[in-house]
Amino acid sequence: MIPFSPPHINQEIIDEVVDTLKSGWITTGPKTKLFEKQLAAYCGVSSLLCVNSATFGLELVLKWFGVTKNDEVIIPSYTYAATANAVIHTGATPVMVDCNADDLNLDISKIRGAITSKTKVIIPVDIAGYPVDYNELNELVKEDEIIQSFEAFSDIQKKLGRILILSDAAHSFGANYHNKVSGSLTDISIFSFHAVKNLTTAEGGAIALNLPYPFDNKQVYNYLNIFSLHGQNKDALAKSTKGNWRYDILMPGYKGNMTDISASIGLVGLKYYDSVNLVRRKQIFNTYQSAFSKFEWAETPIFKTASKESSYHLYLLRIKGINETERDKIIQEIYENDVAVNVHFQPLPMLTAYQYLENKIEDYPNSFHNYERLISLPVYQDLTDKQLTVIINVVTKTVEKNL
Ligand SMILES: *Cc1c(COP(=O)(O)O)cnc(C)c1O
Repeated sequence: MIPFSPPHINQEIIDEVVDTLKSGWITTGPKTKLFEKQLAAYCGVSSLLCVNSATFGLELVLKWFGVTKNDEVIIPSYTYAATANAVIHTGATPVMVDCNADDLNLDISKIRGAITSKTKVIIPVDIAGYPVDYNELNELVKEDEIIQSFEAFSDIQKKLGRILILSDAAHSFGANYHNKVSGSLTDISIFSFHAVKNLTTAEGGAIALNLPYPFDNKQVYNYLNIFSLHGQNKDALAKSTKGNWRYDILMPGYKGNMTDISASIGLVGLKYYDSVNLVRRKQIFNTYQSAFSKFEWAETPIFKTASKESSYHLYLLRIKGINETERDKIIQEIYENDVAVNVHFQPLPMLTAYQYLENKIEDYPNSFHNYERLISLPVYQDLTDKQLTVIINVVTKTVEKNL
């Protein structure tokens, strides 16, 4: 079986993890702090906080911004459940907006109609690693009319004076938009280092801070750091220094720090991210693209334009003219030929947990029409050319047989 997305684990990663295990310090400490510095430098931001997942990162920022019940947060209907769940956990209502027909990112032209005086945050998602049009989105929330309808309750909301853009950049670490790197494209961006993501720490995530004046991103970092560790004013490492046992709890914080064991995996992954991982992913995308673009039945994904370059996270192939049942049958047959494929994503309005919102899938035609024709193909560093040929042959044969 050719797997869908196994992690790349080499001897250097194993050695780095063992080094941490033997060091006497396994939770948040020097390696997490080093990983944060390197990630911040990579993204071109001054401050970045590592946490235990992207989901927690999203929730922590929503809580920091004061999002609570009666508030609304705009999200795409075409995303993973984490985007919606983070909003629901704050008590707020996720307001879903359909995606574009072509690149599957949220349709910015539909956001205007979804904004109300209750809207506090917009969470765009860089689907498959392809960046959203951040210039357009960043400008939208600064329009006079939209600023005037913004009702600020918390001090932080008053300080920003407008809707916050919180990017769910779970897929887009390393992506570019107008020569800037994901993480520095809007107010705050959240990365995921889950096992299947481009850069992994087994489980993990990061909050990249890029808030405008008068925010001091270092200060926000310090606050979120404490907020992610019970609100305790000293972390375990600081407390472990001589006689430094006394602490205070500044607010009833959460618990979602990254461990140094996780950071060890990430440090080595980051070292080879551009030079090996992204190079291989790009080759795989290009190989798929030249193989499938020959076929009339294939709608190939957009991953590079003059102003944008993907992080090559997911290769989302769409088959023209098929329906959900036909797609499911094709996937089953691909599996029977020992190739693991996937579907990213089932539109949120179709899932049980979100029925209470009473969104009808018919109101999200682009999400549904893309979902019903979509097959995600394997993309990962260790995928060999031989495996790639097998995947292309199996997918082609199976689709052509079912047309
Ligand atoms: C993976 C993923 C997340 C969640 O990441 P975790 O680190 O597992 O919490 C959030 N959003 C999207 C779009 C994802 O694909």
